[in-house]
Order: sequence, then C-alpha cells, then structure tokens
Amino acid sequence: VAGYDVARIREDFPILHQEVHGKPLVYLDNGATTHKPKAVIDCIRRVYENDYSNVHRGVHTLSQRSTDLFEAAREKMQKFLNARHSHEIVFVRGTTEAINLVAQSFGRSVLKEGDEILITAMEHHSNIVPWQMVCEQTGAKLKVAPIDRNGDLQLDEFERLLSPRTRLVSVVHMSNALGTINPVKAIIELAHSREIPVLLDGAQAAPHMTVDVQDLDCDFYALSGHKLYGPTGIGVLYGKEKWLEAMPPYQGGGDMIRRVTFDKTEYNTLPFKFEAGTPNIVDAIALGAAVDYLQTIGMDAIAAYENQLLQYATERAFEIPQLTIVGTAERKGAILSFTLERIHPHDIGTILDHLGIAIRAGHHCAMPVMDFFGVPATARASFGLYNTFEEIDILMDGIRKVIEVFG
Ligand code: PMP
Repeated sequence: VAGYDVARIREDFPILHQEVHGKPLVYLDNGATTHKPKAVIDCIRRVYENDYSNVHRGVHTLSQRSTDLFEAAREKMQKFLNARHSHEIVFVRGTTEAINLVAQSFGRSVLKEGDEILITAMEHHSNIVPWQMVCEQTGAKLKVAPIDRNGDLQLDEFERLLSPRTRLVSVVHMSNALGTINPVKAIIELAHSREIPVLLDGAQAAPHMTVDVQDLDCDFYALSGHKLYGPTGIGVLYGKEKWLEAMPPYQGGGDMIRRVTFDKTEYNTLPFKFEAGTPNIVDAIALGAAVDYLQTIGMDAIAAYENQLLQYATERAFEIPQLTIVGTAERKGAILSFTLERIHPHDIGTILDHLGIAIRAGHHCAMPVMDFFGVPATARASFGLYNTFEEIDILMDGIRKVIEVFG
C-alpha cells in the first residue's frame, strides 16, 4: 500500500517493543483487543492532569472543560461513523452494553408474544444472549439465519426468514470467529423493504474499514473502543434519531432526566436520555484521540494494508498440509482462524506463546459457530494496523514448530 509506513506506525505503540519468553513480541490477538498508540495514552494522562472533572453539572471551569472535551469526542465519533447528528452517538461501555441497551429498550417496548428477532448463525454471544433474554421476557422468538461451510451467510435463507412478525434484524458486520464480512447493504435493503430495522454489531468491522452509517442506512451500530485502539470500558451505540427518540430509557439515574418529582419524571433529550450516571469521561475523550489517530493513517489505507496481510497469511497457511482454515468466506477481514490435525488449539496457543507469539485459542464467544464446524475451538491469528509480513513468517515458523513438537 503506497505510503503505508508500518515501521513508523509501530513506533507509536510502546507495548509492541518488548520480549516475551526471550523472543520479540508478535501480537496477533487484535480481534480480542488492540494496543494503544501514544496519542491515546498521552491523552488519558493529559486530561487527568489538567482538565478532569465531572461533566454536564458544574459551572466551574474544569467541569466546563471536561464537558467540552467529552462532547468533542462525541462529535469525533459522529464524524468517524458519518452519523447525521452527534446526539445519535450514545456512549456505552462497549458493544455488549450497546446491544443490551437496544434489546432492553427497543426490544422490550416493541416485542409482543410471537414476534421475531432475526440474527445469524455466526453471531458473538453478545449478539445472541441479550435477544434470548428479551425473548424470554416478552414471548418473542429468536430466529437464526444459517451459514454455509465457507462461513458465508445464506442470504436466500436469511430472506426467507424475514416474516411479517420480524421486528428487528441484528447481524454481525464482521465475524470475530471466521473473519466473514457480511453483505450488510443487501441485508439492510431486504429488511428495509419490509420496514424492519437493522442493528449491526460492528465490534470487529469498525477497526478494519471505513464505516458510514448513512451510506449503510443501518438503524443501529454498536462498537467497542478497546478494539479500535482506544481504551477499555468505552464504546458507542449509534442509533437513528427516530428510533432513539421513540425508545424508553435503558437505565434510570442522574443526567438522564430533565425534571424529577416523586409523581413523574421527565427524561432528558438525546443522547443524555441513554447516559444515566457519571459516564466514562476520560476514556470517551481518549476514544476520540484514537479515531483522530486512525484518521491520520486513513481507514481505507488500513483496510488495504490488512487485506494484503490476510492474503499473505492465507497463502502461507496453505503451504502447511496439516492446517485447516476455518472460515473461507468470499469477503473476509484480517482474521485467520485455523485448526491443526490432532492438536488442540490450546496447545497451539501455549507453544506459540513460548515463541513470543500471541494468538487466541478458544471458542471466541461464538460456541454455535464452533458447533457448526464440528470443532471445540480454533486457533485465531487476528491482524491489526501495526502487524508486518515478517510477523506472519514468524507465525508460520511457529506453527511448524508446534507440528514438530506434537507430530
Ligand atoms: N461482537 C463481536 C463480533 C466481538 O468480536 C466482540 C468482542 N470479542 C463483541 C461483540 C463484544 O465486545 P465487548 O466485549 O467489547 O463488549
């Protein structure tokens, strides 16, 4: 990718420059969480040292400064997702909380017995369990659109499952277990032609590609800051104004009200209606710093570079006959999920760790996906904007070492 200077980029990430078990760290667990550039770490320190106070309340100077920084971060997230309004950006703890918010607020107020929620067979547990919970509370039913052996959604089956009782479609934009990038525009068009709103779980997609919620025309978009090179404990729920206006609050407390009496409480305007209590002020501001940082590199450049990494890793993986790639979808993000003949993924992960290589071994919070492919777990290398082709070579040498040890 022209002008993509990965060596320069790596200089921005202090944690990468260390040894693990006497070997240079090769961090390939970006699907679980990403590391933080100095811009984010410095931002957290700067705000706590200079500007920190509670937001939206005090008339004093520090409170005003914190409020301004917090609201500026909201505008940065608005621009990052190209939302129409900044009040369509709700700060939450992460993707999990964003989906639970929609399930409990939208779901609980809309769903009647016999209504349906449609998801897919490749969802993360956080896009399954909140819907099961609201189905239990309301008598609604959870429907699951199947995937094929490549890990692609069966779009015709998905369409067939859209019924007059479907009240919401909730689909992962990019799968964390398989890497599949779903045809979300087609999904949204099919749903909207039946006036069904769509939530996209963007936990994995947002760090790897340009996301334009107006172009997608999705109704809700959920993401986690910690996978986006920002802090843990902060994330975003984007919701179209018309839905957020109509939805009841998720939690009650301070900041989300306009006026409280014991008889009746008037709720605050958007987005504050959904932000009860003191928010995660500094991490929200630092998430703004993270997206500023990403935009200096450019999401399209990151997507193009990571696509080259994935292609290279896939080609190298094909050279190892004992290796099976789990997830061979047409459109994939930078995730290589795999198994090795007769070797448990946890053993792969342990040996690789001793070589300084960090990967994830497990079910990736997507047990139904593991069941579908008939494996208890997979090993997963997931790439980020700071990974190199050389690191992929180190990974492949490591995998050969694993095969030697257990062979
Ligand atoms: N959805 C997907 C696709 C994910 O990969 C993850 C995190 N692994 C989540 C949702 C949940 O994100 P969080 O734990 O940050 O709330």
